[in-house]
Amino acid sequence: MSNPMISLVIPCFNEEEVIEETHRRLAALAESQPTYSFEFLFVDDGSRDRTPQLLRQLVATDRRVRAVFFSRNFGHQLAVTAGIDEARGNAVVLLDADLQDPPEVVAEMLAKWRDGWQVVYGVRAEREGESRFKLLTAHLFYRVLNYLSDTPIPLDTGDFRLMDRAVVEVLRSMPERDRFVRGMVSWVGFRQLALPYRRAARFAGTSKYPLRKMIRFATNGIISFSMRPLKLAMDVGLLCAGLACAGIVWAFAVRLATNSWVPGWTATIIAVLFLGGIQLVCTGILGEYIGRTYMQSKGRPLYIISDRAEGTDSAGLSMNAPGRALQCAPADSTADVGH
Ligand code: UDP
Ligand code: MG
Repeated sequence: MSNPMISLVIPCFNEEEVIEETHRRLAALAESQPTYSFEFLFVDDGSRDRTPQLLRQLVATDRRVRAVFFSRNFGHQLAVTAGIDEARGNAVVLLDADLQDPPEVVAEMLAKWRDGWQVVYGVRAEREGESRFKLLTAHLFYRVLNYLSDTPIPLDTGDFRLMDRAVVEVLRSMPERDRFVRGMVSWVGFRQLALPYRRAARFAGTSKYPLRKMIRFATNGIISFSMRPLKLAMDVGLLCAGLACAGIVWAFAVRLATNSWVPGWTATIIAVLFLGGIQLVCTGILGEYIGRTYMQSKGRPLYIISDRAEGTDSAGLSMNAPGRALQCAPADSTADVGH
């Protein structure tokens, strides 16, 4: 392969403080790797700050930069998905806009790719500048997920990874809505290598993952990759039924031994509330699966691209995965600063 092309995919949501520095660091990486050509594919996930304008300026000044703009905020996982769908490179690297995934580590990933590895994923050996709460919840989440999941998903791994075109093509053919990209890449297989790295602190700005998005993301991870919660509901149901049977036998035994029924309605109420609670939880678990099946059955596009920007010489090479992106922009829109 002579001069392979590498696509760097960067999802951005309100990242005006970091975009320019990120571009500088990516440009430095590209200059240090002259044997590859690069495209920097920014996916604007419905930012409400100056991120779109800054991206248009970058497109106008650097021919390697392309940007696609969502019609609204669809979430990080869908922004990454759009990047995977749109990338044109022989290998695709996913990295966050806030420089927590250091671009310099990409050089090591490229060397491993050259050695024949088809997925090189970053494992967070150290994390700087994260709150205790985030560290603890992330630590627990990856362990619970792995316990529940039918597919082994590497511990402490984010979406920072390099993927060969073969892997990218498989991902582009996977139509699921509730996407947990790091799990999907594990599920796909191929030759995968873990690369430990130091996760840096966010360069500037604040996290775009509030607790609400984190809980949604974690639930998606578990439900997309495991049927165990459903089986757990069944197990708890059986356990309760068993306890109830034992209670009946006990009540009859007391009746025969003492000639009176077991007194106390407190116990009765507690048992009713306990069973009611368990039933509602089990229904809730069912609901999570059914709701997702319902949303999937609507077959809506996963995300909507309302605009694109790229240098004139690369326009028109679009590679959309049919049926999952809604395209509102003319296919040949070119770099256009400031609107
Ligand atoms: N992000 C996004 N859409 C969202 C939330 C986040 O595209 O709805 C992007 C964000 O711009 C960043 C990456 O996803 O490039 C990771 O987000 P962030 O750094 O805020 O998350 P954290 O590192 O705090 O988990
Ligand atoms: Mg971050």
